[in-house]
Amino acid sequence: MREPLPTFRFHPDPVQSGAVEPSPEPCGCCGKARGHVYTGPCYVEDDFDAVLCPWCIADGSAFRRFGVTFADIEPQPDFDPRIAAELEERTPGITTWNPIDWPACCKTPMAYLEPAGHAELTARHAELTAALPAWGATELDMTPDEATQLCQRLQRDHAPTAHVFRCLVCRRPRAVFDFD
Ligand SMILES: [Zn+2]
Ligand SMILES: [Zn+2]
Repeated sequence: MREPLPTFRFHPDPVQSGAVEPSPEPCGCCGKARGHVYTGPCYVEDDFDAVLCPWCIADGSAFRRFGVTFADIEPQPDFDPRIAAELEERTPGITTWNPIDWPACCKTPMAYLEPAGHAELTARHAELTAALPAWGATELDMTPDEATQLCQRLQRDHAPTAHVFRCLVCRRPRAVFDFD
């Protein structure tokens, strides 16, 4: 039996989001083959091709050993620097077509759920799907028709994609559009 994955409050299900995958490969940090590896972005200066396990991300050992970070967080007045460090150094990152800002709600970074296309939105994020065209029209300065068409074209594996987040405090969902 595989051991349970570590807890990431800002990226609670990295298998669902695709940032962590089952794999027999050993981790380049702890040397153990623990059944899952990280497949998301790594920000580091040198050539870096080490396989990392999610446990070495969670306990900060991959960051301490390699200087690798997993998100590029713009300093925001709402983010406590300790929370920004947790996002950058100890949280699996988000694979995007273009950089997106990690959104905040209730003065806290939101939890990242998954990249979603129209199918995933309809299947798992119904409350967001209904509100998205109107919200997209405002956010992206589109007509309601254009925003509706954009929402129909969203795909998980190709741009445009909607990255789905949920506030850990008020539970409100939010989507961030990602274009190529
Ligand atoms: Zn490891
Ligand atoms: Zn909130």
